[in-house]
Amino acid sequence: MSKKVIVFSQIDSDVQARLEQQYQVVVINPKQGDVNEQIRKEVVDADAMIGAGRLLNESNLATAQKLKIISSVSVGYDNYDVQYLNQKRIWLANTPHVLTETTADLAFTLLVSAARKVPSLDQWTKQGEWKRTVGTAQFGQDIFGKTLGIIGLGHIGAAIARRGFHGFNMNILYHNRREKIEVAQQFNAQYRSLEDLLQQSDFVVVAVDLNSESKTLIGKHELSLMQKHAVFVNIARGSVVDEQALIDALSNQQIFAAGLDVYQKEPLQDSPLFKLDNVVTLPHIGSATAETRKKMAELAYQNLIDALEDRTPHYLVNPQF
Ligand code: NAP
Repeated sequence: MSKKVIVFSQIDSDVQARLEQQYQVVVINPKQGDVNEQIRKEVVDADAMIGAGRLLNESNLATAQKLKIISSVSVGYDNYDVQYLNQKRIWLANTPHVLTETTADLAFTLLVSAARKVPSLDQWTKQGEWKRTVGTAQFGQDIFGKTLGIIGLGHIGAAIARRGFHGFNMNILYHNRREKIEVAQQFNAQYRSLEDLLQQSDFVVVAVDLNSESKTLIGKHELSLMQKHAVFVNIARGSVVDEQALIDALSNQQIFAAGLDVYQKEPLQDSPLFKLDNVVTLPHIGSATAETRKKMAELAYQNLIDALEDRTPHYLVNPQF
């Protein structure tokens, strides 16, 4: 009997078609009722799962008998209870590297958009408000040659630093759990404590992974250290930031602006952020280009079939369980 694969979110249609040729495929469909109920029922005899954007933990995986791999179409893996997967000896695979540059592009898009008020001035122009030459209310912040502080100098953080250094002649500061001397040398980046980085940067970009140490890394106190003209960008995960503290800082014009791709609760609905014109809100699209999503889907497919064909996948989060 062919192996069973659960597709737990919408995935690339070519990859799904290929999976359907090789395996018995079950697609979890939110239109057919409670998603967790469907997962609990289907996972009993499943060999593999593929998808992104769903919480997978003991509550919906406990019935799994022979699940070998969860292949996530993402680099971040905070949706999965890795400790529980280790206990059950289930591999977790992810898709690093292929989305690094695209996500760094998006970080810079947010940085520039927030600094130069791009979305609000686009609306302003289209609403016919441009009746004479612009005034101070339309002025933004200079970017070229300014100080860019990056929190989390991992793959994406380094790609953001490269853009700032080579493209915008920026002075790069970084904060990371440990110093990254070799990477930092490429852009003459200087290591700073979190507090010093927040105080000294004109632009702060968060690019850490979400883990127990980075949860609410940026709260009221940290935001209070930023300069009044500073711009804050988060492309990492919403829970790295105390969202209410950020809303307060933006409402009180304690900082100039923010550019956000991620939120404490997604999809973002009815948020006070919607009422603020000094924040640019995007719907978690860091890696969302056609080319990059294709590469991520192919990598996740490869991880999955490697596991099912008794090879060790290249990109395992928990290779040793
Ligand atoms: P990565 O290479 O693992 O980089 C993460 C970096 O953050 C590492 O250098 C890590 O330090 C550092 N870090 C973790 N916790 C920290 C803390 N508490 N304080 C200081 N530094 C800390 O991962 P990546 O590929 O760059 O991706 C980073 C994250 O971006 C992903 O995990 C994901 O959540 C997010 N992301 C978002 C999107 C989007 O659509 N918006 C797309 C892709 C990724 P160490 O060197 O000590 O490990």
